[in-house]
Amino acid sequence: MPNQTPKQKNALPKATTGPKVSVGKPKHKKIAKTSIVVLRAGAVPKRVRPQRQVRSLVTPQMLAQLEALDKQIGVMDPGRDTADEDDTDYRQAIGGRPGQFSNTFTQTYGSATFQGGQFSIACAEPGCIRGGTILMTAKWVEVRNTTPPVPPRKPPVCHDVPWAALEVELAERERLAGKRFTDYFNKSVCWYQPNLRAGHAECNGMGVKTNAQTAPQFKKAAGAIIDTVMADFSTQNLPIWA
Ligand SMILES: [Zn+2]
Repeated sequence: MPNQTPKQKNALPKATTGPKVSVGKPKHKKIAKTSIVVLRAGAVPKRVRPQRQVRSLVTPQMLAQLEALDKQIGVMDPGRDTADEDDTDYRQAIGGRPGQFSNTFTQTYGSATFQGGQFSIACAEPGCIRGGTILMTAKWVEVRNTTPPVPPRKPPVCHDVPWAALEVELAERERLAGKRFTDYFNKSVCWYQPNLRAGHAECNGMGVKTNAQTAPQFKKAAGAIIDTVMADFSTQNLPIWA
């Protein structure tokens, strides 16, 4: 670095035997012949500081990787950004719950049998209060003869381990790790397919209202689901932490 005013003026130069290199010291400055600088052959401070470079934190390589990752996720879940409009009422009851995947309903209700213009599938909620079978139209709208009538909509996708319990466990793990899960990871935990089941809206509503206070009884099961999804993400090289 030419003309670099040495901040290392007071630092003892390292003894080197290299050729003398000008470091741009003021030429008029007198240096005693007995100076330590002179006495040491070639004792010239070589600590030339590299020019500070402000680099972008996101390199083109990283951008390319993120783009590839996004495509990969898009292939896995083409409708990941679409809003869940099928169980609006239920969703409102649980604020902050991630929206379903585009295929969550189909995966949960896909085994229903179609006969006489209607789909039917067993209600998997414990203590079903509506006869054990969910009847749906050809458009998967639940057939409900209730008084007063309710707006037609698809039956809800019910959880075995409730979202409230998963949410509490996710938050606890974030606290321990000191970092946040990605939205995609939270969503994948929330809609982990083996934890989902078919159920009447009423039966789902009749279930225990799990909240942060009652969630601990599901802690072990919630942890097992999170562990499974985490292992799955690692295998597929998907982003677990934001
Ligand atoms: Zn039921």
